[in-house]
Amino acid sequence: MSNQSNNQSADWNVETRMVHDGSMRSAFGETSEALFLTQGFVYDSSAAAEARFKGEDEGYIYSRYANPTVTMFEQRMCALEGAEAALATTSGMAAVSSAILCQLKAGDHVVAAYALFGSCRYVIETLLPQFGIDFTFVDGKDIDAWKAAIRPQTRVMFLESPTNPTLELVDIEAVAALAHENDARLVVDNVFATPLWQNPLALGADVVVYSATKHIDGQGRCLGGVVLASQDWIDEHLFDYYRHTGPGISPFNAWVLLKGLETLPLRVRQQSANAAQIADAIAGQASVLRLIYPGRDDHPQAELVKRQMRGGSTMVAFELAGGKHQAFAFQDALKIVRISNNLGDAKSLVTHPATTTHKNLTLEDRDMLGISDGLVRLSVGLENADDLIADVLQAMELSTR
Ligand SMILES: *Cc1c(COP(=O)(O)O)cnc(C)c1O
Repeated sequence: MSNQSNNQSADWNVETRMVHDGSMRSAFGETSEALFLTQGFVYDSSAAAEARFKGEDEGYIYSRYANPTVTMFEQRMCALEGAEAALATTSGMAAVSSAILCQLKAGDHVVAAYALFGSCRYVIETLLPQFGIDFTFVDGKDIDAWKAAIRPQTRVMFLESPTNPTLELVDIEAVAALAHENDARLVVDNVFATPLWQNPLALGADVVVYSATKHIDGQGRCLGGVVLASQDWIDEHLFDYYRHTGPGISPFNAWVLLKGLETLPLRVRQQSANAAQIADAIAGQASVLRLIYPGRDDHPQAELVKRQMRGGSTMVAFELAGGKHQAFAFQDALKIVRISNNLGDAKSLVTHPATTTHKNLTLEDRDMLGISDGLVRLSVGLENADDLIADVLQAMELSTR
């Protein structure tokens, strides 16, 4: 592929790499990465087309397989994650379902943590059994439970950490070791941690998936996803699956996400700093029964946070004493923070999981996961921290009346 001014070095720090890595300038020498909004590619001759299909010439063939703008996004994501290879998908769920389905067959078994994003839960619990693939859910915090769930047929383990919405951690290194002792592979959904604060591949995971819809775009514009792994894993499991089932991302969305990566370190750092300040400000409030923030010493797994993550989180969760009534009153009284189930955005967003994202769970499952009627999840944005604190405190005050 023509790569006339590939400006990158593994020695550079993440901020530098997110501005430059993966860039492929065309003959026009454009400053900003080009948007190749094309389905296909033309060949100079019949022989050239033949050579490309034979794989003797590595140019592009069709945008369901690969596209230059998409390649730039994938390469920049590889630099961020420390991965050898990546394939970008149309959504986070396309990344999750492709990464799991591409490596399984009837008779296989999956072990996954209970605490999963709703659609991820559907893939494991409803979709896999339709293809003769069995599963076991475990409490992700309990390493003995992971161990006990393993069967000779176990091929995939799946988790997210921190979890949505209660921000609990799973020990990625320990679960990866268990997977490898048993000839299984660990897939980690790293959306909540963000690639800035946690790199599961470095902790032993085999595959990392992202919803790029969240922090990677970070400005609420488009959906996207990405699967990252070793070149061998991609070649063996995902390469043909991706080409022939078509989860590939639109070049336009890949371009938006590519440009989003330029500011990702800046945004995630500021959003996390804002979240830490908000967590500290609400910690002492009388109506806050429980505060969960992975950057604070009172997080139940503070030691694991320090070992596994380089930073806190852009997310804060807390339980209000007045249950659903107070949670609704609090959300409705907010002026800057808007009610929405999205996260990782420049705009601060609040959600009440029990009545929205997690409404399909049974009461028992919600109890087990700690998703009470008073639980509120805050995704902290890029607004001024003092403004956000004032907004949260005035809404909390009003909600107690
Ligand atoms: C949003 C999200 C997904 C799904 O991503 P989409 O881009 O909405 O398909 C998967 N996992 C987690 C943890 C998420 O937050």
